[in-house]
Amino acid sequence: MPDPRHSIPPAYGGVEPDAAWVEEIKRLAEARNATILAHNYQIPAIQDIADHTGDSLALSRIAAETDADEIIFCGVHFMAETAKILSPEKRVLIPDERAGCSLADSITADDLRAWKADYPDAVVVSYVNTTAEVKGLTDICCTSSNAVDVVRSIDPDRDVLFLPDQFLGAHVKRETGRDNIHIWAGECHVHAGINGSELTEQTEAHPEAELFIHPECGCATSALYLAGEGIVPEDRVKILSTGGMIDAARQSKSGQVLVATEVGMLHQLRQAAPEIDFRAVNEKAACPYMKMITPAALLRCLTEGRDEVFVAPDVAERARRSVERMIAIGNPGSGE
Ligand code: SF4
Repeated sequence: MPDPRHSIPPAYGGVEPDAAWVEEIKRLAEARNATILAHNYQIPAIQDIADHTGDSLALSRIAAETDADEIIFCGVHFMAETAKILSPEKRVLIPDERAGCSLADSITADDLRAWKADYPDAVVVSYVNTTAEVKGLTDICCTSSNAVDVVRSIDPDRDVLFLPDQFLGAHVKRETGRDNIHIWAGECHVHAGINGSELTEQTEAHPEAELFIHPECGCATSALYLAGEGIVPEDRVKILSTGGMIDAARQSKSGQVLVATEVGMLHQLRQAAPEIDFRAVNEKAACPYMKMITPAALLRCLTEGRDEVFVAPDVAERARRSVERMIAIGNPGSGE
């Protein structure tokens, strides 16, 4: 049930992703010398037209390396901000700047300032699903692939403020055994739907199926926590990055795989291994913010050059340091 604080604005509509649209998008992108990057949770038409599809950090790295003049980031706003933080000299556009993230929105910069004031000597660790301003107030960012390593790298005598995802925080607390870790009570409200009973029900109904969990999504951090609790048999659970999920799909001998992540990922998996029956643990786990990047929004973006993503240079500088520290610790994976 979406949190009422997170109402979803109506997306730009009225454009079909037909052959004429494909041709026009390609023509406009070439004329602008723009590269189109699409997150894995985008609708299939956007994934298919993009120059690159992937996770947020993988896309940000591609953005930093491209020689295109413009980066069209088809994903949610904090991801486009991360691309801008890592490539401040490039023009970054998002087809609809209202595409937010309920997890990133669960803590504001003011919330974090107030929290830090209560623990002035604490080290702040933030999951990448945060705004640029929050990253700018963070000591070390983390992905769920390296969250445990990041916290282990911190002096055991210092308090840690971990935000914003409470499931990932609980997982890190259990793994590190630290009792001086304070966890912000945030979550992905959209996907709070993947819960223990649903996972148990699905794994019982499909006893031969493997279970792929992508740990970087707000919806999957609860699955990660539950798998650690032993609710799902360990030998059938694979915690995988998106790239790892595609490799595992190609190698899998299973006829059926349950996938605990946003349903957009199924498009890539079915293309990689058409003989496997991939099923979503929760069919409703579709991020409506991601789905705001419609064919109409992308056309508007390339026609009007909107919406441009701005991050104040001082905020970007501080945020970049926290992201670079993250990349240096353990295996950060590639973000949500
Ligand atoms: S799925 Fe949840 S965590 Fe991921 S972008 Fe959407 S709202 Fe944010």
